[in-house]
Amino acid sequence: EHEKLTFDELIRHWAKEKPDQVALEQEGSALTFAELEDRSRKIVAMLRARGLEKGDRIAWLGKNARHYFELFYSAARLGIVMVPIGWRLAAPEIAYILGDTGAKLLFIDEGFGELADKACGQMDAAPPIVDTPTARAEIAAAQPGDFAAAGADDAVLQLYTSGTTGNPKGAVLTNANLFSLRLPAEEAAQPWSSWDEDEAILICMPCAHIGGTGLGIMAIAAGIRAIVQAEFTPEGVLDAFEQGITRLFIVPAALQMVVQHPRAKDTDMSAVKYVMYGAAPIPLDLLREAVQTIPGAGFLQCYGMTETTGTIAMLPPEDHALDGNQRMRSAGKAVPGAELKVIGEDGGELPCGEVGELICKSPSNMIGYWNLPDATRGALKDGWMHTGDAAYMDEDGYVYIQDRIKDMIISGGENVYPAQVESAIYGHPAVSEVAVIGVPDETWGEAVKACVVPKPGTTVDPDDIIAFTRERLAGFKVPKTVEVIDAMPRNPSGKILRRELRAPFWEGRDRQVN
Ligand code: ATP
Ligand code: MG
Repeated sequence: EHEKLTFDELIRHWAKEKPDQVALEQEGSALTFAELEDRSRKIVAMLRARGLEKGDRIAWLGKNARHYFELFYSAARLGIVMVPIGWRLAAPEIAYILGDTGAKLLFIDEGFGELADKACGQMDAAPPIVDTPTARAEIAAAQPGDFAAAGADDAVLQLYTSGTTGNPKGAVLTNANLFSLRLPAEEAAQPWSSWDEDEAILICMPCAHIGGTGLGIMAIAAGIRAIVQAEFTPEGVLDAFEQGITRLFIVPAALQMVVQHPRAKDTDMSAVKYVMYGAAPIPLDLLREAVQTIPGAGFLQCYGMTETTGTIAMLPPEDHALDGNQRMRSAGKAVPGAELKVIGEDGGELPCGEVGELICKSPSNMIGYWNLPDATRGALKDGWMHTGDAAYMDEDGYVYIQDRIKDMIISGGENVYPAQVESAIYGHPAVSEVAVIGVPDETWGEAVKACVVPKPGTTVDPDDIIAFTRERLAGFKVPKTVEVIDAMPRNPSGKILRRELRAPFWEGRDRQVN
């Protein structure tokens, strides 16, 4: 059974148990748990003085910041729902999210005034904007008092999906969703689910993504120090390694920049205990390179989605041995407390080894999408979250994610998963990035096409890529065409937008989506 805790209980708990332990740190400026409790009570008073109540939404537009996390934790104590908005989004996208949530206030960080004004200027009923100096002054003047804390089943966070397959959707998450799987396990725990007192976790992924905000949640659950970096840079991560961070979460595209950085070989990485990575498929060669570059660390692949508050499956360190083991291709097995199943088109569970849709039952599953009852009904059935990912499971419960069902290519009746083709092409020395898409084809229905970004200073010969892939994959998976492009379209979570690459080829036609 899962303990159901809340932000309010956790903050009070750590302030009592470990008052002098650092909770949040940014560029050397730190806040202890005792200070967090004090400051948070003032933020609670500020929010109440602003007339906000349980169930109201507030939005944040800014990079990662200590004061974002303070605001989120404090609002959560009241059951005021935080909506962090990706700072790389364009004004109309920001206006869409603000309008969708009906946020009562928009908190912005320094440097975001212009973007916020532009977004709000496009709205009929824009929320008042509160900039950081104003918020600071109001917090300083606030008079803390008693308040009714939100319960475990109250919503506290509304996180938008990355928008990889379409418009982002607001996943509504409660205290219980956030903490049910993340509280440190006691007995029989896996080594990585317990924490040493002196650990520090690096938050370098954007706070609008579960890989950013989720780490703050993990730190509060475990009562350990979180180090906040405004945004991801490979240099920042290498610096953090040298400053002794013990864990981090990083997406594959960012991990690649870190391990291939010229400074990587001279960086002391000995303090790093666990590298958590995931949120997108990782090419096997990159994973092997990362394991070799950060040899002292245990690698943990995380598979999950915004709708499941992040990780629901994990590939443990022991499955990262560089001996050619097949498990390294897996995204791992269900974390304790979550259940995974692979189902066929009729909804029945499939036998091991057969590819179908991965579904998940977990206390971390969202309560639903905001304002999207149909999408919610389609995604959550009897408590099972339908991930939209094609996967199979082996006899030991390890899942092998093939790709998104929407991106699967059906060529001559054969299913081709782009991620597998991409993984093969990544092995080519001239390839920096690759995305594989299905384009219309008279004969085959869809044909496999690879879009390739060459490594700087190299050229890519399409025929060479085709020949290279032919040696490694079945004929029907080999790209019929290869196009060289300058840059990959990505969303702010670093995910490749295959739909954008696909769009010009499908203009005026309907792509059959499975
Ligand atoms: P949208 O739902 O708006 O299209 P999104 O699905 O990219 O965007 P997220 O919730 O950030 O938004 O991402 C979840 C998805 O990321 C999963 O459904 C899966 O496709 C992919 N993913 C997550 N972890 C892994 C992993 N370890 N390996 C492969 N794919 C992963
Ligand atoms: Mg999704």
